[in-house]
Amino acid sequence: MTLRLDERLSALVLPRALGLIGQASGRMLAELMAVERLTPDELAELQWKRLKALIEHAWAHVPFYRTMFDNLGIRPEDIRDREDYARLPFTDRDSLVHHESELLADTFDPRALRVVHTGGSTGTAARVHQNLEYYHWGASAFERNLRWIGFEPGERQAWFTRPGVTTLSRRVRLAIERKWVVGVTVHSPVVLAEWARGVLRQQPRLVYGYATAIDALAEYALDHGVRFPSVRHVVTSSETLTDQMRARIREAFEAPVYNQYGCTEVYAIASECEHGNMHVNSDLNHVELVPLEDPSGATQLEVVATPLFQFAQPLLRFRTRDEVEPLAAGSCPCGRPFPLMGPVAGRVDDILEFSGGTRISGMLLERLVRRIPGVVHFQIQQTSRDSLRVLIVPNHEYGAKTLAEFEDLRRHFARQAGLAVDISPVLVDEIPLTRSGKQRSIVRLDEEAPLAERS
Ligand SMILES: [Zn+2]
Repeated sequence: MTLRLDERLSALVLPRALGLIGQASGRMLAELMAVERLTPDELAELQWKRLKALIEHAWAHVPFYRTMFDNLGIRPEDIRDREDYARLPFTDRDSLVHHESELLADTFDPRALRVVHTGGSTGTAARVHQNLEYYHWGASAFERNLRWIGFEPGERQAWFTRPGVTTLSRRVRLAIERKWVVGVTVHSPVVLAEWARGVLRQQPRLVYGYATAIDALAEYALDHGVRFPSVRHVVTSSETLTDQMRARIREAFEAPVYNQYGCTEVYAIASECEHGNMHVNSDLNHVELVPLEDPSGATQLEVVATPLFQFAQPLLRFRTRDEVEPLAAGSCPCGRPFPLMGPVAGRVDDILEFSGGTRISGMLLERLVRRIPGVVHFQIQQTSRDSLRVLIVPNHEYGAKTLAEFEDLRRHFARQAGLAVDISPVLVDEIPLTRSGKQRSIVRLDEEAPLAERS
């Protein structure tokens, strides 16, 4: 189904249409835009009020946090400022794995919640439960962040993102939003040629999606002399955008490139404005940059975030496992009240190279493996140009179904990219650490790959 509306008409019907089909409401976006007129102090006060309300809710309605507060011998009123809050223990992906139901608030019907699979780059499969309103706040913040870089509602968009379910309502919504969505699974030469043709046909103003996918397309375009004159702005997300990638994408699309930062557990953490500075969406998230313990003595900062509207399954002081570079002092000429943050530097999102030049984003591979039943922790190791070994710490669900899913994955790659890759699951007691002491979910062929056998 295709709705043929020009961009102006699309902009006119967009807010009403989105409301009708249950998407981010105009009310939320209006509220978020109004926050931009606050002073930094007023914004900090608004954030603190929201954080206090979330802490009280977590204490009153979430068994995990009630137990935590009881064990610490404190009550919500004992948390008087941000320093007090910073003394609370972290929540992390292990908390989600081991305390999934104790983290749910008793004020929501669990059947009415959105369930999202997560794991980030840590190789720990977990599920997050979201109240619908939280999801809409995230979507509205995304809209606000796009306005920062000059995006106008109704503009044609090309999205390179995870493969989604194509229901009728989704197709209608995509048509209204003027979105052409490409589900990214591999970046083979054949696939890249198809994307390039698609962009030329669709004439998008905005190109949005995975940094590695857009970079692969940029590289293809430069190699083949393809130009995309319709594109006005490129926005990357979900993966680290290196300076080299940014320069290549800018050259290929002849348009400015902006980065957004968030994760499955915490939406819309920060986004770059038109001046290229990363601003924290501090009205939606409380963000701390916590020094990482590094045996080599180097200072690394980890993003610890609290989503302020996640009431169904509150995550107080959630460890994202993402590292950011320290920020040089100064303010942004855009004048928005949102605090600045350094670029995200430490997201592990390796590209695996296979025979015939086919490349697969490690992050995508992770997303596919993380959904397989029976897999609690995993590490994907490339052992040759045609083979992968997947170390698995299993749970009781591990069995024939798990193996069948891996077989499906192998067939998927053969079908999608003509790639004959051998995938061998290996059971282990724990996922080995790399030399630097980190747990990696992806180990490339050119890296050290310690193998811990199940005892
Ligand atoms: Zn700015």
